[in-house]
Amino acid sequence: MTIQFSDLGLSQPIMQALDMKGYKEPTPIQAQAIGPVLGGRDLLGIAQTGTGKTAAFMLPGIDRLRAADKQIPFKSCRMLVLAPTRELAGQIAQSAKDYGALAGMKVHSIVGGTSVNKDRNKLHRGTDILVATPGRLLDLIDQKAFNLSGVEILVLDEADQMLDLGFIHALRRISQLVPAERQTLFFSATMPGQIKELVGKYCNDPVTVSVTPAATTAERIDQYLFMVQADEKQSLLDLILAGKHEVPGKFERVLVFTRTKHGADRVVKKLAQRGIAANAIHGNKSQPQRVRALDEFKRGTTPILVATDVAARGIDIPGVSHVINYELPNVPEQYVHRIGRTARAGADGVAIAFCAEDERAYLKDIRKQTDAEFERLPLPDNFRAVVEGVGPTKPAPKQQRQRVQPKRRDGQQSGAKQGGGQGGRGRRSGGGQGRPGGGKPQGQQARGGGGQGGGNQGGANRGGNRRRNRRSSNDG
Ligand code: AMP
Repeated sequence: MTIQFSDLGLSQPIMQALDMKGYKEPTPIQAQAIGPVLGGRDLLGIAQTGTGKTAAFMLPGIDRLRAADKQIPFKSCRMLVLAPTRELAGQIAQSAKDYGALAGMKVHSIVGGTSVNKDRNKLHRGTDILVATPGRLLDLIDQKAFNLSGVEILVLDEADQMLDLGFIHALRRISQLVPAERQTLFFSATMPGQIKELVGKYCNDPVTVSVTPAATTAERIDQYLFMVQADEKQSLLDLILAGKHEVPGKFERVLVFTRTKHGADRVVKKLAQRGIAANAIHGNKSQPQRVRALDEFKRGTTPILVATDVAARGIDIPGVSHVINYELPNVPEQYVHRIGRTARAGADGVAIAFCAEDERAYLKDIRKQTDAEFERLPLPDNFRAVVEGVGPTKPAPKQQRQRVQPKRRDGQQSGAKQGGGQGGRGRRSGGGQGRPGGGKPQGQQARGGGGQGGGNQGGANRGGNRRRNRRSSNDG
């Protein structure tokens, strides 16, 4: 028998909030964690974003605060959630507001890259729940604008990611500042030695809950592969995003991963030269730039986001239809994190990997560790000519395009009504792939007109882009 939310002992306001969110059943981590946390136990959750872990700590956390019914402490908080990135902190704070609204919870978040003075003012009277990145929290503590004496519940979210970002000293320091008598909920996707050390420092006989979404995530994601030379990748991406080389699935939002910040910027720039609007998100972008990029992506006004791993970890955006691994990660786990950005909360998704000759070893590792089944897709006709700038720029005629569409796994050729053969498992529907964002006119896309066919052959685009091309070749 499956566990229901009503079996878990949550309060009425929380149950109502769940109803409003439309959650029908607890996810595995929620089913396993909520009971022990409500009972006051420390928790070690081995889980990544996408498993529903935020609700797993936030729902019982809010109920524990309600039950203890203490005053909000001056310049402190009752529940402190530490998160690695500004984006994740923002998301957790939003969840806390959603789940805690009916319980009357006061929620704040503080992150780097914003005004410290504003944070000081808003935290002066304290808060029920504070979501913070470690650096900004310590800044405020050092300025005596905040203290941790009121903390009843401490959550560390994505602890491994916090270590990757160099927060080990901050976390060691924070562990000295929180009251000894508290409840600690500790989440990490992986358990390297340093994390074990931190668990020992922070947790007291924790209940361990481990969910491994790799297999379940992969089940809902159709995974495809292009074997493509490194110098052809940009042209392939251009053609796919311009709707000139069809791939399975109907584009809504497309998240493209590169290995480096510079690589992400370069892809965005090249896409712009083809008249395709995209934003980049990575560690060198300012906070307002990151917020704007995410916002435009969420709203669908710029539904192509080119990201590095650090920036994309923890991002939860419903409706990411495609994840394109422009470069394969050298760590298989990272591949799972990346493709997990699509297929959130039960939805389906498409993941497309671009694998160059020198990435075959990475592909092998990914296959071995995740049991991923890739369906190989053919490159566009005359592709090398397109890359070299002498090939056709027109989209392939419909008939020809359908040849590149994969067969459904039941062996039948997908019908035109199924979006022209899209959807590896025959589940996806919706006619015509179009461009991300459903072909809405977008600033740069409109400007680019018909010149988006890979390489530098850009037809009408060529003249207009000459200056931009020259500039981009200087910083390559
Ligand atoms: P998280 O792993 O906490 O980032 O959650 C991933 C996504 O799953 C978020 O969009 C949540 O709103 C959603 N979610 C969390 N719990 C449930 C649930 N029980 N049913 C449906 N969706 C959920």
